[in-house]
This record gives sequence, C-alpha cells and structure tokens, in this order.
Amino acid sequence: MQFKFHMPVKAYFGEGCISKNGSELAKYGRKAIIVTGGRSAKLSGALSDICAALEQLDIEYTIYDKVQNNPTLDNVREGGAMARQYGACFVVGIGGGSPLDAAKAVAVLAVNDIEPEQLFTNDFANRPLPVVAIPTTAGTGSEVTPYSILTRTDKQTKISFGTPDTFPAIAFLDPHYTESQPLEVTVNTAVDALSHSMEGYLGKRRTEATDILAREGIRLFGSCLGSLRIGNIGPETREALLYASMLGGMVITHTGTTIIHGLGYNYTYFSGIPHGKANGYLIAEYLRFNYEYAKDRIDDILALMGLADLDEMDAVLAELIGRAPAITGEEISRYAAITMTQRSTATNIRPVEAQDIEGILKRLQK
Ligand code: NAP
Ligand code: ZN
Repeated sequence: MQFKFHMPVKAYFGEGCISKNGSELAKYGRKAIIVTGGRSAKLSGALSDICAALEQLDIEYTIYDKVQNNPTLDNVREGGAMARQYGACFVVGIGGGSPLDAAKAVAVLAVNDIEPEQLFTNDFANRPLPVVAIPTTAGTGSEVTPYSILTRTDKQTKISFGTPDTFPAIAFLDPHYTESQPLEVTVNTAVDALSHSMEGYLGKRRTEATDILAREGIRLFGSCLGSLRIGNIGPETREALLYASMLGGMVITHTGTTIIHGLGYNYTYFSGIPHGKANGYLIAEYLRFNYEYAKDRIDDILALMGLADLDEMDAVLAELIGRAPAITGEEISRYAAITMTQRSTATNIRPVEAQDIEGILKRLQK
C-alpha cells in the first residue's frame, strides 16, 4: 500500500454543533465576512446561529449574500473586494456547494490582488484567509474539500481550483440546516454525494482508505433510497445524507472525480440543470461504460445499494431525478469536446476518447 491521506479540516458534526463549539471562532480574528446565497443561510437557521456565536465573541462581521448557483467569476471578484475593503480576518461560507466554493475563492482574493482568472493557477503569493464552512445541502462535501468550482464563460464550462491552503479550516455540519431544502434540492444533492463516492471508488486514484469512505457513502445512500423515493425525509435520513456527503467529499479530495462530473458540467452550463441532477442522468450509462473494467467493484456498488442490476439503477435514478433532456447531434459533439478538456477524464478507470463520451450521450437519447 502506498498513499497520502490529507484531511486537515476540523469537522464538527451534529445537531447544535455551532452553539456547542462556536468558541473555536475566536482564534481566527476579530472581523469576519459571511459569504452566502440569497436565501439558504437564513432559511436553514445557520445564519442566526453563526451570528449569535460571532456576537458572543465580539467578532464583527459583514455579509456578502449575492452568490449565485454555480458561482461566477464576477461573484467572487465582488466578494473578494468586499472582504479586502472590510479587512476581514476570516471567511464564513454558508450554503450549498455554490456559496462554500465562492467562500474559498473570496478567501484567496481577499489577500491577493489578482484577477479571478488567476485563481486557476493555484499559485498565490499570500496564504488565503481561513474559511469556516457550514453546509446547508447534503451533497457536495465542499466543507471538507480544497476545491472551488467556478463557472468559466470563456471556456463554456466549470473549472475547479484548489490547493492544500484552500481546505476550510473548520466545518460545522448540522443536519438541521438541511431540513429547509426543497425536496428536489435534497434529492439532487444526495445524488451528487453518491456520485462522488462512486466515482472515487471506481477512479484511478482510489486508495484503500478512500475505498472505506466511499463504500460507506454508497451504503448510506442506499439506506436512504426508500425515503428519497417517497419524499419523506426524516431527521435520521437528514443525518445519514449529510454524513454520506461529508464522506464523499473526503473521497474526492483524494481521488478527484471522473467523467460523470466532467460531462455533467455541460448540462449545467448549457441548460442550467442543477449539478447533482446532471450527474444523476449519467450514472447508469457511466457504470455500463466501465463495467468490463471494474466488474467486481460495480457489482459491489449495486450490492451496497441493494439493487439487482444496472437496469434497476437506471430505473431508480430516473424515478428520482428524471431523464436527461434530448440534445442535438451538434450538442453531443460539443459536450464531448468540452468534456475532453476536463482533467477528470484522465482519472476514469477505462481510457476515454471523445467518441466514447459521444457514445454515452447518444445512448441517453432514448
Ligand atoms: P447550490 O447551488 O449551492 O444551491 C442550490 C439551491 O438550493 C440554491 O437555490 C440554494 O439557495 C438552495 N438551498 C441550499 N440550501 C438550502 C436550504 N437548507 N434550504 C433551502 N434552500 C437551500 O447547490 P449544491 O448542489 O449544494 O452545490 C452545487 C455547486 O457545488 C456546484 O457549483 C458544484 O459544481 C459545486 N460542487 C463543489 C464540490 C467541491 O468539492 N467543492 C463538489 C461538488 C460540487 P441560495 O441561492 O439561497 O443559496
Ligand atoms: Zn459533485
């Protein structure tokens, strides 16, 4: 065995974890910027909990609440400028993956006078501000990854950056904050978490340690499947999904993602389809594509989820999230070409060419 396992995020998990451990924030400085979307921070209850903890410690704060889904470079430019002007000592990200990823970019831009395009060089003169990450969806695992995924209109896709310095310093995972999600967001984000564990389990960069986390993430998703299908998500399911999401984040921190993510970004970029849903459209075909290269592992995945075969996987996912929208031949070629520019194609267990991606997309046009 040979691997590196680096997970420097101090993660507090469980109901009330901010009020119980908020004193930890004192060490990050006297001024914070909270980075979030329009509604999730308030609706989830996370904003009032973090503000109470900051006020108790006499830490001043300001709020940047304009992060869009699939954050843009303009978002992080604006948030970074606000953080610098305010003299923030640390950044609190609250929300789904979009605000958490934006918070990481704001943490870099607050102390580095660079254009957002330069984030992707992963080379920063000054160490980013510490990030406190508070997820309100259970899907991306961004609270435990160093990645920040931003929309690049110049490249017509989404691209990530991340270095060991962009891991959040601390994460507060309270399943209660995920209760206010609409059912569709709950389901889409759960499918994203499944995708992370699955892609890690089947990817070229998997290790013994990530296999353990990935298997547990997949098993947990399977245990929640019944609740997700009937749309009745109780507290135990919320807890299991948030835990599975965190495990998936730890997995992709080490393994990266594979073609599901690289290809799925097209559906998001060109059609505005939410990230987890886009991944979900692709899972069954991805497994079929890789089956001969990872038969035992794919059979493991099915067993962990309590599914008989790939046809059942296909049917269950279609029931949860629907089918991929039809696209034209021109779109198929374009999606495939853009996917091939993503690093994540290189980590797929089966070598991938543009025509393979086209084949996957064509098989979805049924
Ligand atoms: P999201 O884009 O952060 O949020 C989707 C929607 O759900 C938003 O409208 C948001 O509202 C709402 N929402 C979130 N939490 C809520 C809550 N508790 N109650 C009510 N509404 C809530 O969705 P996401 O799937 O979590 O994140 C997707 C992003 O993460 C993508 O950009 C993806 O590329 C990225 N990602 C990152 C990583 C990583 O490792 N860093 C991994 C996978 C994916 P608001 O608009 O108010 O926020
Ligand atoms: Zn994802």
